[in-house]
Parts: sequence; C-alpha cells; structure tokens
Amino acid sequence: MQLLITNDDGIKSPGLLALVRAMRPLGQLAIVAPDRNWSASGHVKTMHRPLRAYPALLEDGTPALACDGAPSDCVALALLGLVPDPVDLVVSGINPSANLGHDVTYSGTVTAAMEAAIAGTQAMAVSLDVPEGLTDDIDFAPAAQVAGQLARKMLAHPLPDGVLLNVNVPYVLHDNPHLAVTRQGLRLYRDELIERSDPRGRPYYWIGGEPPSGVAEPGTDVWALSEGQVSVTPLQLDLTAHDQIDSLKGWSLA
Ligand code: MN
Repeated sequence: MQLLITNDDGIKSPGLLALVRAMRPLGQLAIVAPDRNWSASGHVKTMHRPLRAYPALLEDGTPALACDGAPSDCVALALLGLVPDPVDLVVSGINPSANLGHDVTYSGTVTAAMEAAIAGTQAMAVSLDVPEGLTDDIDFAPAAQVAGQLARKMLAHPLPDGVLLNVNVPYVLHDNPHLAVTRQGLRLYRDELIERSDPRGRPYYWIGGEPPSGVAEPGTDVWALSEGQVSVTPLQLDLTAHDQIDSLKGWSLA
C-alpha cells in the first residue's frame, strides 16, 4: 500500500510525526506537508504563483517533502505525480484541535482530505480535541493509534468516490474507545470584530472572540466528543441542498 501523509500545521508539527509513526506499519509512506502553518486556510488551489517542494526531515529523521503551498496543494502535487506510485490512502493530521460542524469548510486538515476525494483517492482527516490552553507536550499517541485502526478499515472497505472520513478524537481516551459514526453537527461561532489602529492611525481588524462551542445533538460529531467518544463522520463533496431543489424550481426561473 502507498499512503500519503499531510497536515495543515506544517511539517514540523508533532501531530504529523505521530501520524507518520502510526501509519508506518500499513505500507509505504510519502509525506508532503506545508512548510508553515496553514490552519483555517480552507480549500486552496494555488494558481498564480509557482509551487516549490523541497526535501526535509521529520524530527525522527524520516524523509519528507516540505511544500510552500496549502495543504490541498500538497495533496494535489503528490497525487499528480510528485509521489510516483499510485496512492491508496491520504491521511491528514493530526490537527491539535477538533474539526466539527462547519469547521470542515475552514479546516486545512479536512480540505486536504477533500482534495484527495476530488482526485478519487481514499482520504481521512484526523483531529484531536486538545483542551483549551494546552499547547505544549500534547499527547497525540492515542489518537494516532485510532487513526491507524481506521486506516486499516478504510483500505479494506474503500468508500465511494467523493466521500471522505472526518475523524475527531477526544483528548482523554478510554482503553477501548467507542467509535461513533456521526453526522456533521452545528458549531456555534462566537467571533467578534476587534478593531485597532496601526502606528499611522489606520484601522486594522482581527476576528477575535471566544473559541466556538457547539450543539451536542445526539448523533452528531459535537455530541460524540462531548460523550468522550471518537467521532467518525463520512463527508461528501456534493453540498447540494437536495430538499430545496423542488422549491427553487417553483421560482419559475427563466
Ligand atoms: Mn491546524
């Protein structure tokens, strides 16, 4: 098996290294990851500047390619031939915060997996629900082990074209964690506009505010994490609101 490992936090992220370690027993690994942090960059296709990829080493000496594009660019380059062998599975992560509900549209971790799905390759995004404020010595190992289990399942039971897995792992995992198959839940964003002035008196802006919360409706990704369960959500790239098609046809558009 040929696997491609990527992330959105950059090639130096410990979450990437943990994922690489967990995936190594599954087959040949290619690692193509951004050379810097692209978190919350969404789905990007870089078209108006050249992209570069250069050899890099992970902390344990594993050879990799660092790319100056977005996570989705890394996947595109890899699948278009930067990785010479056909890729059986793309795994993106491990992101050090959960990607739930509408987060999937912002997430570089998830959109890297979406890029793989567009290319017709099996893909999984893995995120860890790290507690607020914990930034150092994050333990990615339990989540990496879950990712390894799920990757084996995916290789044995490929998903249809255009479908990918969004996996979110609670930070504290029980010995035999329950894997809940979930649907996308609802995030509650608490963004606030922060306006300040630069040294020349011109305004600049930040999107600030509290971190998002969520609605823990049973069966959703938000709920699974709130219950201490691993959330496994099948996502599809067809975003059509099918139940609105007939209503729209009633508009009698010319
Ligand atoms: Mn990230």
